[in-house]
Amino acid sequence: MAAIPSRFDRPVDAAPATGDNASQLKLVMFDSTLEAPSRRSPSGLPKPAPGFRRLEPTAALLDDLKAASEGLESASPEEIIAWAVDRYAPYLTMATAFGPEGCVILSMLAKIAPETYVFNLETGYQFEETLDLRDRIAEKYGIEVDLLQPELSVPEYEALHGGPLYRTNPNQCCFDRKITTLRRASEVMHAWMSGIRRDQSPDRAQAAVVGWDKKFGLVKISPLANWTKQDVWKRIADEEIPYNPLHDQGYPSIGCWPCTRAVADGESDERAGRWSGMKKTECGLHSINEQDGSGI
Ligand code: SF4
Repeated sequence: MAAIPSRFDRPVDAAPATGDNASQLKLVMFDSTLEAPSRRSPSGLPKPAPGFRRLEPTAALLDDLKAASEGLESASPEEIIAWAVDRYAPYLTMATAFGPEGCVILSMLAKIAPETYVFNLETGYQFEETLDLRDRIAEKYGIEVDLLQPELSVPEYEALHGGPLYRTNPNQCCFDRKITTLRRASEVMHAWMSGIRRDQSPDRAQAAVVGWDKKFGLVKISPLANWTKQDVWKRIADEEIPYNPLHDQGYPSIGCWPCTRAVADGESDERAGRWSGMKKTECGLHSINEQDGSGI
């Protein structure tokens, strides 16, 4: 039987987490009678051709990436994507959490290389609105983003740890439910694209347009590195790109529902609502300095 999607674990009427109620949210009983809509069943990672080998960060490769990155510094996102496709397809992938940047890149990919394997790290704790957006993207662009799941379902994972780890050890939770899944994907790829922008956070300010991602052993391409938040939303408005409705409800950055809250009007940091009240600011996918779960 197909795995039951863990989105059903979120109470249907649960309000998104806020600073006040995040620690009090309780999971509803797992209902094994619910069937996953087939279009959201994970399709699985593509199999590489015989002889596929992962890239090694040789001095020559690193020099090449540095030169490419400098050459693409003033290129448009579409030009950067086209370069990445030309250089790395079919071993080019994209990870998206369906943020506004990811949706914009998906709209570009639909015109440049819609066959690109794109996946979402389906932790089992995502908002229903996020998963609905996955379907809206599929309808508009024909790109079926794969929902890659960790080995353990949410009930299995929480049973193993005596409850949800996002309350007590979010670094471990992100590591188990995001990083390990991305590592699995990285084993059959040479390069991945992400929607990070340099102006999102001090950590992201260091992002190259093209660089070597030590954590995952992949070339990392950031087509929107030089775009601003305004650039992203202008494109969304101009092209009526689907986006997460939670952005209209005070959520500038959206991750898993237990670790995301709406931000107040005066909060300038667009990631202030992520892991609110904790030192944690990144899930670890895009942090540069941490090599293990410490910065996750
Ligand atoms: Fe777990 Fe929260 Fe990280 Fe999601 S964001 S994987 S719920 S700690």
